[in-house]
Amino acid sequence: MPSRKAYKELLASKWVWKPGKCQCGGSFAAVSWKTCNSRGFGRLFYRCEDCESFKDVMNFSALPTLRWPIVHYWFFLQQWFANSKRPSSEEIARMMGVSGQACSAARRLGEVLLRAEALCAQKTQDSRKLSGLLEVDGTSIRKFVLPGSTTLRYMQYFGALKRGTRCIHLYRLPDADSKSFGKPPPESFARIQKTDFMRQVLPMTPGLGKTCLISDGAPAYLKLCPELKVLHRACCHSKGQFVEHSRIHGLRTEVHTGGIDSCWKLCKAAIPPSVLTKSDGSFNPKIDVYIRSWQWRWENTTCTNLCKKIAQVYLRQDA
Ligand SMILES: [Zn+2]
Repeated sequence: MPSRKAYKELLASKWVWKPGKCQCGGSFAAVSWKTCNSRGFGRLFYRCEDCESFKDVMNFSALPTLRWPIVHYWFFLQQWFANSKRPSSEEIARMMGVSGQACSAARRLGEVLLRAEALCAQKTQDSRKLSGLLEVDGTSIRKFVLPGSTTLRYMQYFGALKRGTRCIHLYRLPDADSKSFGKPPPESFARIQKTDFMRQVLPMTPGLGKTCLISDGAPAYLKLCPELKVLHRACCHSKGQFVEHSRIHGLRTEVHTGGIDSCWKLCKAAIPPSVLTKSDGSFNPKIDVYIRSWQWRWENTTCTNLCKKIAQVYLRQDA
């Protein structure tokens, strides 16, 4: 029976679990397929042996209870986690051949999964330290005009990529304003200082020596590196410099920020254009959710069971 099989897969994915005791203290028992179907097509239920109340199996999960056939849940999860580029909830709903109410249910489910990914990325980053060779750079994500003015407000992030790895740290900088529709201001020491980056960088890299930041030579780093007691190498493209080599940790190393540059491109491309820039007069917090979820996906590109990994990280944190 495909529904039972889908339920088994959901249990194995860790998003769904077996029920404990009923509120009345009684034990839950599985319900026959026939009774299940008479209560809701394609759904599965437990029934309390004492008070005889029915419970949808999805009540015992980290996913919303959508009154969906159980096979739809499994299909949705499989599609959501199938590739590093995730389809939208609407695309999956179309694949399932559903519309209307079921389509808005798909959107709800997608929302929960997206937020779970973002939370996993944030928690993973929060629990890590940075050392070694770090490419650092700031970037502008979105901007809007402050009402009744010629001032542009920029949403900016500061990032640090550990060279040669899929470990990237992203920090939201305080918003930056630029008068007369000006260009975005570069990342400043004062603003980087307000992020957790300061306490996450280790001055020494075990077995290698001093940690080294590689930047594009923005003024911020001239102050930042001595403060962090780390080395600094810079490659300034805007001054027409070509990629230089430098001996870092005893190795001939290319000095450039190409790694973090391409990360910014991918990260920005992962924010759907349909996500509005503004919400209640400031930047839409949904943008941050998409950025974090990109971070999670990118860091875990080689993970073969992302569905299970995220459930484990997500639920361990919620516990
Ligand atoms: Zn009961």
